[in-house]
Amino acid sequence: MSDTGRCDIVRVLLVEDSPDHADLIRAKLQRSRRLSAAITHAERLDAALVLLQDGGFDVVLLDFSLPDSYGLETFRRAQAVAQRTPIIVLTSLDDNELAVQAVREGAQDYLIKREADTRLLVRSILYAIERKAAADALRDSEERYALAVRGANDGLWDWDLKADRVFFSPRWKAMLGFGDADVGDSPREWLDRIHPDDRPPFRRHLDTHLGGGSDHFEFEHRMRNAAGEYLWVLARGVAERDERGTPYRMAGSQTDITARKRAEHQLQHDALHDGLTGLANRVLFMDRLACALADLQRRAAPHFAVLFFDLDRFKNINDSLGHTLGDKLLVGIARRLEHFLRPGDTVARLGGDEFAILIHRVDDASGAIHVADRIQEILSMTFSIDGHDVMVTASIGIAHSSTGYTNPEEILRDADIAMYRAKAGGKARYEVFDRDMHQSAVTLLRLETELRHSVHRGEFEMHYQPIVSLTQGRIVGFEGLVRWRHPKRGLVTPDQFIAIAEETGLIVPLGWWVLRESCRQTRRWQRQFPADPSLWVSVNMSGKLFMKTDMVDEMLGILEETGLEPRSLRLEVTENVVMDHADLAIRNLMELRGLGVQLSIDDFGTGYSSLSYLQRFHYDSLKIDRSFVSKLGTAGDSRAIVETILNLANSLGIGVVAEGIETAEQVERLRRMQCPHGQGYWFSRPLTVPAAEELMASAPSW
Ligand code: C2E
Ligand code: MG
Ligand code: MG
Repeated sequence: MSDTGRCDIVRVLLVEDSPDHADLIRAKLQRSRRLSAAITHAERLDAALVLLQDGGFDVVLLDFSLPDSYGLETFRRAQAVAQRTPIIVLTSLDDNELAVQAVREGAQDYLIKREADTRLLVRSILYAIERKAAADALRDSEERYALAVRGANDGLWDWDLKADRVFFSPRWKAMLGFGDADVGDSPREWLDRIHPDDRPPFRRHLDTHLGGGSDHFEFEHRMRNAAGEYLWVLARGVAERDERGTPYRMAGSQTDITARKRAEHQLQHDALHDGLTGLANRVLFMDRLACALADLQRRAAPHFAVLFFDLDRFKNINDSLGHTLGDKLLVGIARRLEHFLRPGDTVARLGGDEFAILIHRVDDASGAIHVADRIQEILSMTFSIDGHDVMVTASIGIAHSSTGYTNPEEILRDADIAMYRAKAGGKARYEVFDRDMHQSAVTLLRLETELRHSVHRGEFEMHYQPIVSLTQGRIVGFEGLVRWRHPKRGLVTPDQFIAIAEETGLIVPLGWWVLRESCRQTRRWQRQFPADPSLWVSVNMSGKLFMKTDMVDEMLGILEETGLEPRSLRLEVTENVVMDHADLAIRNLMELRGLGVQLSIDDFGTGYSSLSYLQRFHYDSLKIDRSFVSKLGTAGDSRAIVETILNLANSLGIGVVAEGIETAEQVERLRRMQCPHGQGYWFSRPLTVPAAEELMASAPSW
């Protein structure tokens, strides 16, 4: 505000009850060339306080003894109101001591009225103003600094390296949950609270900096707080050095970064884990697998195995009970798996209903098989979810490290191949990968590619196997069985490609082709070989064909186009088709049945819930599976089973065809049990169209 070289206007509040003294001071100030004073005069303290409150003064000249106040009291009251305005007290010789006390309490100066000439008065005023401004600036900056420190939430430390003492700021201590008095000044207060794992690298960083190896010290580490928990902190500091470069002091800050670390950790966790179940995801699993493989290669660590599995019929559960329940089931499975695995093993959800497990220390495949058995056991225990009792099975593929792998992808791929083998083998099973499996997987892959083309190239043809009335001994119908006329392999039977066609979806166009072809052929034979009732045809149906809302229309279209009556068409479905394909499939089946199309259960007795399904759904006939027929009259006689099935069918009023009849004895036994129809090599193998016509023309009788 004032610079001594310039003539500024200084606003002075003069508090003086004696008019003589006031005039004197006014006169002295007006004589000065260094400042021009604008003087406001108050005779009493209360008047002065009112003026001070409004502010606008650069300095106060205050007499101690006023009509309404005396001594230090005068100063104290004035100072309380003046705040940042400097006060110079005016005294008489006799209250010198009071004046000294006032200066101690914050007055800028004191002047003895009689001794104060112009020069002294002016100098005192200018210095008072300057000192006050400097003090204010200092206080401002101190406050700013304090605010900054508080705002940054940093704790401060200042390490006297010579004395080996550290000043820890209150905030530093509070950050760790300590009061100011709880923490001493030894470096141990810090170092001993660092997480044991972080101590060596902390020490290294610190020594590097002290040794001049870095510009500044910066290290993130964990610190134990008063409650015994660990916080993440960022410690930063810089050493001060003497002329020889030896550090003698180091100071810096400590910031609580726990929240940031937690967020980072969460991000990292999310990137490596499955969001639904919290299990490892594919990325983490592959990483662990790569580590296990590297360990094995490097130092002949124990062997390990990968189990890859997929829930059987999970889609069915999802479709029938809803995705929310399906999700809960997956979470339930995840918890059980986690619970049963050994620490160090990894269970991952690779997506959908696919899981993979990495187990360490398994010498050979039998160890892994044991785990696979346990998994089946664990899954077969009922899950109670939202009032539903759900049971699941899994198809498990096993790959063992002894097969000799060079990269983790191969291991997972082989476990996957083995899993498919297990599924194809009838679900709820495991398979251990072997080299042959790889070869057949390659073959399968090739077959799949070729199959895609064959649908367009028209490489399929239908063969027909007669179905015989056991009472009359004559042909009453045929089962249409598809064949693939492969350009190089020759005739390929459905066992070798239907499963692939199912998996790739090719079964849908193929299935419709089979239906159209079978209906067309049968209608032609009905004209060629009239009978009463007319010949019928059985067609094997994949469940996938039923999964379309307009499938009934398409089926009716085929019947209309080929002229075959609905009752001459039998759709053969396995029990699993109904199990696997939920509501829509069943609705379509029932609608077709309502229109007169016959429904038949194929391979009866091998599937899931045979008897209960017979009662729930209205089938027109069933086919007793070949496995029961072939055991008739052998060591493991199945007569009782066949008899039960026949009785049941009889009481439900549905037809029966015994499949796979190969011997005269089987025919005889079935006849005695009054089985109405039979089919098998004993009568005829599946035939090409000309061969079937030749057979019918000869009107065979069995
Ligand atoms: P499936 O429906 O149980 O058909 C009967 C199978 O048993 C046929 O095998 C037939 O050749 C065979 N067989 C008949 N009599 C005997 C016998 O006395 N002894 C023995 N050991 N076997 C006999 P194929 O033609 O290889 O068909 C196998 C399976 O492929 C069929 O079983 C059926 O599930 C499926 N399949 C065949 N054609 C089609 C089709 O067009 N569509 C669909 N989705 N599946 C089909
Ligand atoms: Mg069949
Ligand atoms: Mg069958």
